[in-house]
Amino acid sequence: MIDDDNPYAAPKADVLVKDRHLDSSSDAWRDGKMLVVRKGAELPDRCLKCAAPARGYRFSRSLSWHKPVWALTFLISPILYALVYVFVRWRARVTVGLCPRHRRNRARAIALGWLVALTGLGSIMAAETLFDSLRPIALNAGIVLLPVGMICGVVGSQVLVPRRIDKHFVWLSRVSPDYLAAFPDWNA
Ligand SMILES: [Zn+2]
Repeated sequence: MIDDDNPYAAPKADVLVKDRHLDSSSDAWRDGKMLVVRKGAELPDRCLKCAAPARGYRFSRSLSWHKPVWALTFLISPILYALVYVFVRWRARVTVGLCPRHRRNRARAIALGWLVALTGLGSIMAAETLFDSLRPIALNAGIVLLPVGMICGVVGSQVLVPRRIDKHFVWLSRVSPDYLAAFPDWNA
């Protein structure tokens, strides 16, 4: 090959990665503990979290991601970050299978998150009616429980966790190793 002697040619590995979205017949790969999915790909009817049969159930979400360094603009100005977020993020819609057990787990995490957050809200509102000695305890408990419930609900119910998105592919973490094992190695 003439290319082999050309010192100005791009490294082979770069060329392979760059062209993979055109060349490969595959739609998903494993990259370490992450799943790489081609945008718009149809994934198998298996649960992303345990590889059990999903029995036709499809879970779909629009994901967005930007390079973490852009978050630093928040320190300059939240408004600047809001603009950066709108213009620099990559977006992708991903659809996967989810088994009945992991659907139940997700519903439970959402319900528990709401329960804790509403208990916090109730305790803040009830603080006003309590004796002076109890008021600060109820107020502080509420101030802690409200955000904890919201965060736990959001994190616990998150099925698709994007670690990176580019023009053609999405990298997802928190995927079952058994599910990953069915796909070719991204780095091969
Ligand atoms: Zn499952």
